[in-house]
Amino acid sequence: MQPCDPELEQTLHADGLRITRQRQAILDVLQSTVAHPDAAWVYDQVRQQIPNVSLGTVYRNLQVLEDQGLVRVLRYGRFRRYDGNISRHYHLACLGCGAVCDLGLDWQDRLGQQVEQEGYEVTDHRLEFYGYCLQCRACDDPLAVTARADSD
Ligand SMILES: [Zn+2]
Ligand SMILES: [Zn+2]
Repeated sequence: MQPCDPELEQTLHADGLRITRQRQAILDVLQSTVAHPDAAWVYDQVRQQIPNVSLGTVYRNLQVLEDQGLVRVLRYGRFRRYDGNISRHYHLACLGCGAVCDLGLDWQDRLGQQVEQEGYEVTDHRLEFYGYCLQCRACDDPLAVTARADSD
């Protein structure tokens, strides 16, 4: 048994509180937006409440929150976006500006049921929609136009 060190215990306790507070702040930020932000945006928001927080800490806590199933990570190529809404819903991702929106489309249970006819037990599925948002469609950025022509 380690001898009880009240000073060490207090430090550990304070550390635990600090971690809890940081994690809660990150979760609050993600649950208060529908923007599906990236880690840098989350970091900027959390820093307004906890000025000495580091980007590394934010990344670590996002990972823990993902492992705990409290946030959802959406991976689009090399981009990672975070969603504080863990209810089942579909996303629409803009190939022009990278915006990610929730879709007002009902969850399609029948898709899972159809796949179960193959003998699988389906516990979840993912369905992503890609395209160009209204803003990107209105913009005459040649890159976006080229990309659009290519996908035709
Ligand atoms: Zn867009
Ligand atoms: Zn979402």
